[in-house]
Amino acid sequence: MGTRLNAIREACRLTPDERSEDNINDVLEFVRDVKFFAKLTNLQQKSLCKTMTIESFDPRQNIFEVGDVGDKYYIILTGSVSVQVPVPNTPCPNGIHTVRCDCKNRPLETTVFLAKGSGFGELALQSDQPRSATIFTGEKTEVLVITRDDYEMYVGALWEGVVRHGLAVSLHKIAVFLADVGSMGQQLFLPGSSNTWKVSRIRSCTSVFNA
Ligand SMILES: [Zn+2]
Repeated sequence: MGTRLNAIREACRLTPDERSEDNINDVLEFVRDVKFFAKLTNLQQKSLCKTMTIESFDPRQNIFEVGDVGDKYYIILTGSVSVQVPVPNTPCPNGIHTVRCDCKNRPLETTVFLAKGSGFGELALQSDQPRSATIFTGEKTEVLVITRDDYEMYVGALWEGVVRHGLAVSLHKIAVFLADVGSMGQQLFLPGSSNTWKVSRIRSCTSVFNA
């Protein structure tokens, strides 16, 4: 495990462009079973493993706090953390709020402990909602970090744009193919009004994609 860890640390110290296929696979081997990763395509997984970095935290430190604006998702590489949420139905510790208290010094309670290979903070990749929990390190902890920018680039909105562009190119190829078939049909069968309509429709379709 020690050598594997060092390989991951070494890979994450390199810039994305410096990372070799081996570097990327060293990281991927560790994260591929994390639930967040399992639902991604292999290309998306590798793209994120190419850009992921490592952050280190001392024991008894907050990685983030309730109410923080977040733009990162974390996977624990070494160490452990507790997930702490505000104790429900406690009054505002500063006597300011009556309905919804956002004070940083609200009493918190631990709901769960997370160890190596667990991920947290996923919501920040897709939403501007403030953090709903505080993450507190139980010991010296290293986390792999994915930023929202990289997530959007390889998995989110931008990625969907790339896929859609690819789809448009495929549709164009199909339209050209159908236009050819349509022309053949016109020659093979008696030219009827419906057939002519089909060919012209396909042509107009093709011109849209050619534009
Ligand atoms: Zn308050």
